[in-house]
Amino acid sequence: MKKIIYYTAVMVLIVILLPAIIVRSCAPEQAPPQEQQVEEIPQKPKENKENKEHKVYEITVYNKETGMAEVMDLEEYIMGVVAAEMPADFSLEALKAQAVAARTYAYGRMTGAYRSKQGVHDGIEICTDSTHCQAWVSRENAKKKWGMLFASRNWSKIEKAVNETKGLIMVYEGEIINALFHASSPGRTENAEDVWEGKSVPYLRSVESNDEASKGYITTVSISEEELAEKLLDAYPDAELPEKLAEGIKIIDLTEGGRVKTLNIGNITMKGTEFRSLLGLRSACFSIAAGDDGMISITTTGHGHGVGMSQWGANALAKTGGTFREILTHYYTGIDIVSISDFEDPSRKPGN
Ligand SMILES: [Zn+2]
Repeated sequence: MKKIIYYTAVMVLIVILLPAIIVRSCAPEQAPPQEQQVEEIPQKPKENKENKEHKVYEITVYNKETGMAEVMDLEEYIMGVVAAEMPADFSLEALKAQAVAARTYAYGRMTGAYRSKQGVHDGIEICTDSTHCQAWVSRENAKKKWGMLFASRNWSKIEKAVNETKGLIMVYEGEIINALFHASSPGRTENAEDVWEGKSVPYLRSVESNDEASKGYITTVSISEEELAEKLLDAYPDAELPEKLAEGIKIIDLTEGGRVKTLNIGNITMKGTEFRSLLGLRSACFSIAAGDDGMISITTTGHGHGVGMSQWGANALAKTGGTFREILTHYYTGIDIVSISDFEDPSRKPGN
């Protein structure tokens, strides 16, 4: 009898408790969605924090083409600068270096670290004129320029270059640098003080640059002795010019970057940069020769003022495996590459 009671008790336990155990063991599998929902609510403030960290920066751009000022997302604006300032078929790392240089220049303007020439677009941070600020092209116009075949490939490459360097700028001893750049150099870049009057800039020093592959690296132009004399007399009304002008031009000395520092023509002594701008030459690295029939031929090497990063040199470095960080630290002596958020929050340590 005891045995019957015992077996009955065991059966009752199996019938009642086993399903309970099974249900219990299944229960946790149904629970997670509820638990996840509960956990998701406190995550919202974290999302806000992330938004704060990925703050959207805006820049006011004066569009020379439309005559209108536009407020743009800084990163969008940088894409337009890279598209306008550097050929899209350059290596990705060169495009990335260009993006950081362009962002540094733009951010310098946004924060007032560097101001534009007064009277051109007062109160507006930057313009689309390459001779004044830096060139910019809209996505639509860039794609039109590239044509159907290359439009989307080129734009994605530029987008990638900007996204992969998002928010990065260059600083020197904690200050935003003046990230000047130029097309190509004749073997070396220039010291800033050799191009513009003023103090030397510690990060804008003459460095080696391999730019032979650049378009129009060596270019010869011709000008008549008469026209040159006219231009010189316009600038120096009291000038006494030599009879044979081509032979009378004497190069006195060169800069560390190999451009003409000073030259002598009759009783005038002028800077090589002044002679370059007077004649609209591609570079202040020039040589002069007497041609036939009273013509003078002037041969230039490189293109641009020669200060800061050489774009063709950047591409040459990228082609031999250089990263954008290596390119930038080569052309801008002693700089650090930091994110804008690290720069704005001094409690963070800038990294390189
Ligand atoms: Zn401007």
